[in-house]
Amino acid sequence: MAPQILSPKEMLEKLVSFDTTSVKTNIPLIEFVEGYLASHGIDSVRVPSGNGIHTSLHAVIGPGDVPGIGLSGHTDVVPVEGQNWSTNPFTLTQKGSRLYGRGACDMKGFIACILSHAPKFKERDLKTPIHLLFSYDEEVGCTGVRPMIEELGGRLPAPRLVIVGEPTSMKVVDAHKSINGFETVVTGLESHSGKPHLGVNAIMAAGKLVSELTRIDDELRMRADGPRFDPPYTNVAVSLIEGGTARNITPKSCNISWMFRSVPATDPEEITSRLAKFAKEEVLPAMKDVYPDASIETVQKSRVPSLNAPEGSPAVSLALKLAGQNETFAVSYGTEGSLFEEAGFSSVIIGPGSISQAHAPDEFIEESELEVCSGFLGQIADYAEAN
Ligand SMILES: [Zn+2]
Repeated sequence: MAPQILSPKEMLEKLVSFDTTSVKTNIPLIEFVEGYLASHGIDSVRVPSGNGIHTSLHAVIGPGDVPGIGLSGHTDVVPVEGQNWSTNPFTLTQKGSRLYGRGACDMKGFIACILSHAPKFKERDLKTPIHLLFSYDEEVGCTGVRPMIEELGGRLPAPRLVIVGEPTSMKVVDAHKSINGFETVVTGLESHSGKPHLGVNAIMAAGKLVSELTRIDDELRMRADGPRFDPPYTNVAVSLIEGGTARNITPKSCNISWMFRSVPATDPEEITSRLAKFAKEEVLPAMKDVYPDASIETVQKSRVPSLNAPEGSPAVSLALKLAGQNETFAVSYGTEGSLFEEAGFSSVIIGPGSISQAHAPDEFIEESELEVCSGFLGQIADYAEAN
């Protein structure tokens, strides 16, 4: 039987039908992709997660002994729970020029274009190979791609550069903010609320830390050191607070979940060390006067660095040339691109669909975006054959 060739839309329909919400398994989707690639004579290699329910997939089309052009996409999607969808999110539904479905835009659209194009890549006499880098758990802190990046240059061939197809409406993005998440645990001492001097109120101590974070946020907003970004500054936000047991008990503990999204010009260390200094010098001494074991501990829970592609970045130069554009953009969301760049692989972000549709109910992609992306992949094939 001749191997199946699917159009980008048909491929997207197939990919959307797998519910790959980050907490769920992505293995049925990966099995489908492996089978499809194998039917076209393309081998692929898994990089499984420790818990066995997820895997990344790496494939090489063309020569295996020279660095290639990496095409990177995450296979997981954000949850649909609590969202009001007017179609079944896991059945690709066309209405006019729009294709609706969870992940249609972020970012199964890009993966669908790549897989639809894979047989054409395979037919070409490529001098530079095309590497496919499909990950998991991007939506929960870009954690799934990290084990695969560690293997690049070892078990897996290293790419020369990486094109990350997050939705940018096919514009070339060379910079994004960082995302850093933290939990600060304040430990005080319980007492009867009528004997406050015998306890250490963890929530009120936490309140002082929240005020300091608010001051830092205000100052960073005034500094506005990211004019290319929207908004043009680093922001700090406290997002969740838990603590206390009852109104008449001095609370012994309080947890603060907070985060910041920093522009490349802001040093992330500045924020964490300032909070630590404030805690140590302004909050903790009075707590320890009453209770020597009182503590304030901050643990980093997630980290995606900012991306700031250097002048003359090979990935950015190639993307601009092949997309026929001469302007780059900066975005406020994080991507796997900064992790590739940090590991020494020049990276750029360009992919079909608008970020405004990502994560939203009734997520969709314009069919024309898939066509533009397929044209871009055709340019990559021409370049990889000639160079
Ligand atoms: Zn995404």
